[in-house]
Amino acid sequence: MEQLLKRIEAKHDKMVSFLETLVNIDSGNDCPEGVAKVARIVGGKLQEMKFDVEYLDYPGACTHLLAHKKGTGDKEVMIIGHMDTLFPVGTAAARPFTIRDDKAYGPGVLDMKGGITIALFALEALYESGWNDKNVTILFAGDEEFAHPKTNAPELFEQHARGKDAVFNMETASAGRAVLVGRKGNIHPELIVRGISAHAGADLDKGASAIVELAHKIIAVNNLTDFSRGLTFNCGVIKGGTVANAVADYASVVIDMRYLTVADGEYGIDSLRKIAAQSVIPGTTTEVANLRERFTPMEVTEGNLKLYEIVKEQGRKLGLDIEKKVGGGASDAGWTVRAGAPSICSMGALGALNHSEREYIVLSGLVERAKLLALSVDAV
Ligand SMILES: [Zn+2]
Repeated sequence: MEQLLKRIEAKHDKMVSFLETLVNIDSGNDCPEGVAKVARIVGGKLQEMKFDVEYLDYPGACTHLLAHKKGTGDKEVMIIGHMDTLFPVGTAAARPFTIRDDKAYGPGVLDMKGGITIALFALEALYESGWNDKNVTILFAGDEEFAHPKTNAPELFEQHARGKDAVFNMETASAGRAVLVGRKGNIHPELIVRGISAHAGADLDKGASAIVELAHKIIAVNNLTDFSRGLTFNCGVIKGGTVANAVADYASVVIDMRYLTVADGEYGIDSLRKIAAQSVIPGTTTEVANLRERFTPMEVTEGNLKLYEIVKEQGRKLGLDIEKKVGGGASDAGWTVRAGAPSICSMGALGALNHSEREYIVLSGLVERAKLLALSVDAV
């Protein structure tokens, strides 16, 4: 073990420069060619380790990277992540990879180009140490930040996770270097209310206001939130009406719904349907649209908790206290748990302020987390 850890420590500078290369390539959803470029660099590194690498190109959308390497034993480990960021083209040029003290800044440096870097160098160190007893599968998506709008990434995650002994998602470490054993699912349903338009002066009584109906519905939706079971509803965007002197015949709200279990997700949708079915303002009707599950919940399973014990034990060997948490954000680990694979999320980099211009990674965390991942992959 000492030799493996020393090997990882010696890779610090190479990790930083690899990360710099990735961060300085824009790979948002407006830049499929950037995602493709990142995929080829990551895939190149995996090919050096003798992985069979496939690039799944979705023209005009993005590229996913799928790679396999056979080991000498039967155990199956999968490492997942995403290569896209949520920053538009031009961000990398405007604020490129920059180091100040022990922190590095730049688009996606933490979420999650840092995590990808950690995974690659942890594997490289393992293979250089002569380790090869497990079958390893890698799936890095190219469109996670917008919940895979144009690809079948969720099916791919499920398909390839089936039968795996362990899945590690390289998302950012939770505060205090914790890992996640559960995460919420997420849907953005929309309530669309249709009413009857009428002149606000001459015919007010002949109208049916979609806006007033929506106002009642928003209060009802808001009241569905149940913090004790982790089921939340946020009415985030409303639209409706055209002019002040007409009764609005249209109003809508986009809701962010989050839930800890598949059953709670179904309960939440059911509750929305009930609210939609009951009109307070006669003459209005309401439809529930856009029920696509953006992310399925990463349910806290027995398998996740067992895998966590393995990770925690490796942390202890490194002198680290690795706590477990359940996160309110969503991730692709939901799909791998749905496939029945024990999964741990947030095995990735240390840092803070994801999705903001102030996002940073703690550079010394690269080696720390690569050690944790390498030992965990070995210990599964
Ligand atoms: Zn992420």
